[in-house]
Amino acid sequence: AHLDRIAAVDGQVNAFLHVDRETTLAQARTVDERRAAGERLGPLAGVPVAHKDVFTTTDMPTTAGSKILEGWRPPYDATITARLREAGLVILGKTNMDEFAMGSSTENSAYFTSRNPWDLERIPGGSSGGSSAAVAAYEAPLSTGTDTGGSIRQPASVTGIVGMKPTYGGSSRYGVIAFASSLDTPGPFARTVLDAALLQEAFSGHDRMDSTSVAEAVPPVVEAARHADVDGLRIGVVKEFAGDGYDPGVSARFDEAVELLESLGAKVVEVSCPHFTYALPAYYLIAPSECSSNLARFDAMRYGLRVGDDGTRSAEEVMALTRAEGFGPEVKRRIMLGTYALSSGYYDAYYGKAQQVRTLIKRDFEAAFEQVDVLVSPTTPTTAFPIGERADDPIAMYLADLCTIPANLTGNAAISVPCGLSDGLPVGLQIMAPVLGDDRVYRVGAAVER
Ligand code: GLN
Repeated sequence: AHLDRIAAVDGQVNAFLHVDRETTLAQARTVDERRAAGERLGPLAGVPVAHKDVFTTTDMPTTAGSKILEGWRPPYDATITARLREAGLVILGKTNMDEFAMGSSTENSAYFTSRNPWDLERIPGGSSGGSSAAVAAYEAPLSTGTDTGGSIRQPASVTGIVGMKPTYGGSSRYGVIAFASSLDTPGPFARTVLDAALLQEAFSGHDRMDSTSVAEAVPPVVEAARHADVDGLRIGVVKEFAGDGYDPGVSARFDEAVELLESLGAKVVEVSCPHFTYALPAYYLIAPSECSSNLARFDAMRYGLRVGDDGTRSAEEVMALTRAEGFGPEVKRRIMLGTYALSSGYYDAYYGKAQQVRTLIKRDFEAAFEQVDVLVSPTTPTTAFPIGERADDPIAMYLADLCTIPANLTGNAAISVPCGLSDGLPVGLQIMAPVLGDDRVYRVGAAVER
């Protein structure tokens, strides 16, 4: 049924980079066989999932939205891919994304722009915009994403679905094509909080293949999603994430969500996190710095595209030609920014300073969580903007992640749940919890989702 739905609507929605009916049906048959053989499978066995094209898959190509990886078939499955298969989920295809997950709209995809099912002339968010569009358009009940600065929560917010960034290290990065390794966090998209919890539980847990994977037990997220109870819970409204730059409709829906929590017995207080406003500039030094190092591996030798290798050119020349043609403008901008920020003489002024800001943000979170159990804010300052509106203005594009980035810089758990409409477009409520407090955001999210 989902393959049929994809065939019917994906021509308009453009959520998928790759769909392969035969491979998907073969996976589904394997699940049937495992069941027939008496294997006891988990609650999501047989449920289809759309998979972001940043996760390696042995039976489907993996491009990370880039020309430099066009046609690449990974020789191994990402841990998350392997766990989806293990749990009996059926992968419908690979979803579109901003190239190497750099962007907030999928307009940086080297292939095409995905569309928001609520209004096809608007962006579905990004970088995981194919995954949000697929779920919002009923092409898939579940999908995967990665959140480095907001790439799960912001697309979930603007398409009216649930998107969760787990605690950093709570979901494996092994086989996730790297953007900024200290920030990259895989997580689930779903139409309900409980569905998101089921998917997160299916792929979480320690992975010895990822050196930053946390050793602690997975927080009981499914149980939390089933206990939508906020009575007595202390909820902090982040004072800094309001005012100028926020759509009036976004602020109104946010205020109503807070009132709803209060009516359910939560104790609401205003909390100041003075350094959160510096998160965005710090992120745009740290993320490009890490990306400039990670993307050095695309050297025309190991993977995908190779340009100008005609026997007359040196390896360096082939590498330069390949990178010039294979990377899009945003990726090049970030590699240059990051290389500059890391260079000798500038390191202390830029990268070093940004890392210090990161520590201050961590202290803001710690101080806040001495007073409250969770923090809330709008997920993103505006609803889905029209395709093209910010395409030539990187700074305007970067503002989409103003509220989501603090939790990436510190590794905290954070979710976006739908909290109503503004001018017919979805608005998201962000709920942030301490590191390894994933269950808390599910509990609060389940209480307010509507
Ligand atoms: N939009 C942000 C960026 O462009 C975040 C992307 C992400 O989370 N992958 O870097």
